[in-house]
Amino acid sequence: MPFHNLGPALFPFEVLIDTCCSLSIIYIVIPLYRLLSRTLITTNTHAKLLKMAPSATYDYEEHAGRALEEISDAIDEVNVLKDKAKKRSQLPPAYDEASQFDAAKDKTQFRQYETACDRVRNFYREQHEKQTVAYNLAARARFNSPSRARPELTVWEAMERLDALVDDSDPDTELGQIQHLLQSAEAIRRDGKPRWMQLTGLIHDLGKLMLFFDGAEGQWDVVGDTFPVGCAFDERIIYHDTFAGNPDSRDPVYSSKFGIYEKGCGLDNVMLSWGHDEYLYHVVREQSTLPPEALAMIRYHSFYPWHKEGAYTELMEDKDWEMLKAVRAFNPYDLYSKSDGLPSIEELKVSLLTFHGCSGLG
Ligand code: FE
Ligand code: FE
Repeated sequence: MPFHNLGPALFPFEVLIDTCCSLSIIYIVIPLYRLLSRTLITTNTHAKLLKMAPSATYDYEEHAGRALEEISDAIDEVNVLKDKAKKRSQLPPAYDEASQFDAAKDKTQFRQYETACDRVRNFYREQHEKQTVAYNLAARARFNSPSRARPELTVWEAMERLDALVDDSDPDTELGQIQHLLQSAEAIRRDGKPRWMQLTGLIHDLGKLMLFFDGAEGQWDVVGDTFPVGCAFDERIIYHDTFAGNPDSRDPVYSSKFGIYEKGCGLDNVMLSWGHDEYLYHVVREQSTLPPEALAMIRYHSFYPWHKEGAYTELMEDKDWEMLKAVRAFNPYDLYSKSDGLPSIEELKVSLLTFHGCSGLG
């Protein structure tokens, strides 16, 4: 009988059996091995259990060999699991994994509009009164006009140019825009998120440059939370009462629940109030290789009534739910990084500006 037919139980004696080529050896060696191992275990066990009552040791000798094998197998299994867990922990976190950098922050301190200063409330009154369907159509026509000036800037040049702006709509920071962009990108980097998301954090507010370049009428058509125009203004929009001064709120179509849209039409087909999100979204969609999730982070990052309050979900199509997940993953880095320490601009400039995929804006 060839050795390989004897099964794996004889494996420890394979070399010996190959050498001897005799079944009689098998019959001698196997019982000898069993006897030896049992004797060793029993001797050892007796040495340890001398002082125990016989009833406590009754079954121990019978099963000691098997029990040891089982323990050894279990240890091997634990080691394999430990190895797997170690490898898993070395993988970078997925882009939509919960943010870590803000774990110790008091989130209730942000977006406190009830106690915001007059600057913020006055800003929103003006924005809510002037963002009409008519204005939005005109703004898009201006953006798409071949005669529109399209200055070419590197990302860093754009950030420097923007730094003069203090956002009137923001109750959480009075820092310049370079600081805010670096804080966002750095928080994403510290959390180990992908480089495309770090880049998104670095550029997400560069659309505010339209204030200088694109004939914007004031901050009201550049910054602030966004919302759809052409349908009823949802009550979950901050300072909702100030829409009373918007002529669309008295228009029979624009003030109806779906207005000019249909249920489930998809957010791609919804006209969001004109501002820096929408502006940069169109620029980056044409000029970068950023993934759809990044484009959604840019286009919807100020759409708080949707991504924070859950409004306008009836206008969404299937893919918008994935985009909502992306925007929610991005939001902590935009909002909660504002209370981080001031970044070292020169240090971060070197580490963050080695991206591919977006070389200039125009
Ligand atoms: Fe923004
Ligand atoms: Fe921002």
